[in-house]
Amino acid sequence: MKKSDIIAGMKEAVETATREVDWGYSPETLRRDLRFLRDQYGLRIRMGRKTIFDDVFSIDSIEKMNLREAAFHVGELTKEIAKYPPNLIRTSEVKTIRFADFKARRFSRGTGGFYNQEEKIIYLLSFSFESFHHEIFHAFDTELEDPSNSYENWVNIFPSFLYLGDELSCNVLELRKLRRKGFAGTWGRKNPLEDRATAAEELMTMSRFYDPKKDKILTQKIKLIKEFFEVVSDGLMGKQYFRDLRGKRVGVDYWQQRKLK
Ligand SMILES: [Zn+2]
Repeated sequence: MKKSDIIAGMKEAVETATREVDWGYSPETLRRDLRFLRDQYGLRIRMGRKTIFDDVFSIDSIEKMNLREAAFHVGELTKEIAKYPPNLIRTSEVKTIRFADFKARRFSRGTGGFYNQEEKIIYLLSFSFESFHHEIFHAFDTELEDPSNSYENWVNIFPSFLYLGDELSCNVLELRKLRRKGFAGTWGRKNPLEDRATAAEELMTMSRFYDPKKDKILTQKIKLIKEFFEVVSDGLMGKQYFRDLRGKRVGVDYWQQRKLK
């Protein structure tokens, strides 16, 4: 073997190793994350192989992920779910998150996921941060005991004529044409539940779809969502938490660290 070949071979090995480090996901991280989700949050992840529930929900095809893709999706999910205190997820009764592919009749393009209340399953199309926070918020909104009556107050503050109900089509192009001031996303114009879920999505991901200085109504909505979180998390998601979230200090060990303090 020539010296130059050896050097080239070494270079390639280093490059491959660097790529793997950058990617950061492996069968080991997958196992670790699945264990974390199960032990801390009481959640299990399903992917691949169609189940009887998928038929019920008219899911025609289920994404078949290879190990590495699965490790990536579960890894990203783990980071996002860690933004919630374990008890909040446990009391929401969500037990399963299903990675699926919606080439199904009921779902139009652009749908990121849905929450099935009867089976307590969140379906996610691949993985999108926004969709995950959106769907889990539906679970919070419908399953959690809320002494502050956040939903009822919302309905009283924001008049029903703002909402379009079933007239709101899923068509992405049509959605884009709708006025969206006061809303974190046009999908929120469907009804108060979707409005709350889109506002929560914005709060938890800080996608900055809006300028708070220019949108007083949305700022008010996000404040109400924060208050809701504070109540249903027994104070854990209070002012300090949202400061930490904004400062990107909420990582996978956040709740463990807070307990130690
Ligand atoms: Zn929704």
